[in-house]
Amino acid sequence: MEFTTAHTVEELKKNVDEVKRRIAAAAARAGRDPKEIRLLPVSKTVSEDRIRGAIAAGCTRLGENKVQEAKRKHAALIDTGVEWSIIGHLQRNKAKDVAAFAREFHALDSLRVAEALDRRLQSAGRSLEVYVQVNTSGEESKYGIEPDELPGLLTALRPFDALNVRGLMTLAIFTTDEEAVRRCFQLLRRLRDDARDRDPDLIGLGELSMGMSGDFEIAIEEGADVVRVGQSIFGARPTPDSDYWPTPQASGHS
Ligand SMILES: *Cc1c(COP(=O)(O)O)cnc(C)c1O
Repeated sequence: MEFTTAHTVEELKKNVDEVKRRIAAAAARAGRDPKEIRLLPVSKTVSEDRIRGAIAAGCTRLGENKVQEAKRKHAALIDTGVEWSIIGHLQRNKAKDVAAFAREFHALDSLRVAEALDRRLQSAGRSLEVYVQVNTSGEESKYGIEPDELPGLLTALRPFDALNVRGLMTLAIFTTDEEAVRRCFQLLRRLRDDARDRDPDLIGLGELSMGMSGDFEIAIEEGADVVRVGQSIFGARPTPDSDYWPTPQASGHS
């Protein structure tokens, strides 16, 4: 896929507008209202001055995969009022940092992390919007709970008052086989529908956070409510994706 690197506010605005145009076109194909779909721009590896440009171009909330990087950017950009969504796997010992500043967390994948977050949030007098990450690709290497663990985890999250469950999140399988990608998104949607049928109170709005630069249009066709898009807005990343999630070549959960 070709990505154009955006530096100026105008270039950033142009890329954001183009992504929004593609979101609207995908929504139209699926008979959906594009206004229901939220674009979460992902700014990992992007410098603070380019992020300022994106904020000037209208971005009000940004996604970051790594807590340390998000924490640094939050401090450096505090004057802008931009809000932060942590979208990557979290180690329990970083829960305190997330609880201190993040607005959303898209990668909740264990009860232990939930406990740590809730405790830290309670003492900070804050709350957090969370999405439970599900492994829909069946790849060993992917983060996220297994589909059959979802009912148990949702039930177990009920007592955590500082965590507002908003829905589910997934990363599709990395492949050029569009049908295989689509099946991941369909599975997440089915899991959401089943969870709603069992107990709608446990899944909040039941939103689906799915789709990134390579596959957000498919995700929207399959019901995505939030798409997390980095490279189509900011340009190609210098770092390999294996820096952000385990791949078959570079595996190892932490
Ligand atoms: C980086 C990242 C994205 C965005 O990927 P792009 O290819 O830049 O669009 C989405 N979700 C997660 C969890 C990410 O880490």
